[in-house]
Amino acid sequence: MKAKTDLGKEILDIVKDTKEYLLFLKETGVAEVFTEEPPMSQGLTKGHENPVCHPEPKAKGLMPRENQILRCAQNDSKVAGVFSDELSMNQGLTRDAVDRRGLTPSDKSRRLEDLRAKIGECKRCKLWNGRTNIVFGTGNPDTRLLFVGEGPGEEEDRQGKPFVGRAGELLTKMIGAMGLVRDDVYIANVIKCRPPQNRNPEEDEISACKPFLEEQIEIIQPQVICALGTFAAHTLLETEVKISGLRGKIHVKDNYRIVPTFHPAYLLRNAGQKHLAWEDLQIIMKELGLKNM
Ligand code: SF4
Repeated sequence: MKAKTDLGKEILDIVKDTKEYLLFLKETGVAEVFTEEPPMSQGLTKGHENPVCHPEPKAKGLMPRENQILRCAQNDSKVAGVFSDELSMNQGLTRDAVDRRGLTPSDKSRRLEDLRAKIGECKRCKLWNGRTNIVFGTGNPDTRLLFVGEGPGEEEDRQGKPFVGRAGELLTKMIGAMGLVRDDVYIANVIKCRPPQNRNPEEDEISACKPFLEEQIEIIQPQVICALGTFAAHTLLETEVKISGLRGKIHVKDNYRIVPTFHPAYLLRNAGQKHLAWEDLQIIMKELGLKNM
């Protein structure tokens, strides 16, 4: 009886994930989905398809010397919905039991807890004054994919969790469209406290808070960081280039591979750009060897 219940739940989960996936594809403007062998189902395992990157001439004043941005040729694949016979939702982002530093997933989890404890009831910048909760980050501490947003909004501040408002719902769909669930990835923000009226964080606030994000990245050691929106991309890449000029390619900085894309809140206001976000997610999927479903 229990096995039947489990199976029923599993089927319901698959139906739910499939619905999320199709909804996101529909929103990106995909008109049809294929049921035969998908053109992109080979992933990275066969012939790493992300374009070979060529070093970009350093833009004066935009990047510190040691940073190397690699520019990839534009992904010229058309936005196409692909749907394999073998529907494998929740592909997972499993890694070896122990990383090259000898850390297990529980070690990473503990180190993140220690970091959260170190932050405490932080007053290192003026944003402490208006916050309800510090929004530290949630997800799988041992993931290969980290999403970084700007900072908490009203709902996030209330619940103490990142991306739980309308933009969060869209991010969940985007993750679902990759064949993943939120628990497969880690989600954090550049700043941990909500700025008043959701204004952009100021420089002193970023300098005070950025070390926490850097430490999160150092603990998790993700294979890919998806920078959600201008602000996260600018902070992570230390550049002021517009997001439209940064997205669509992989940037390498401090040995991390960073793929900037539009912030889900922006996509809610500009639905016509969703197909570009989907292209960016496909770049990430290839990089991680995830199957396009
Ligand atoms: S935004 Fe960061 S540095 Fe500022 S009070 Fe919050 S946790 Fe501390």
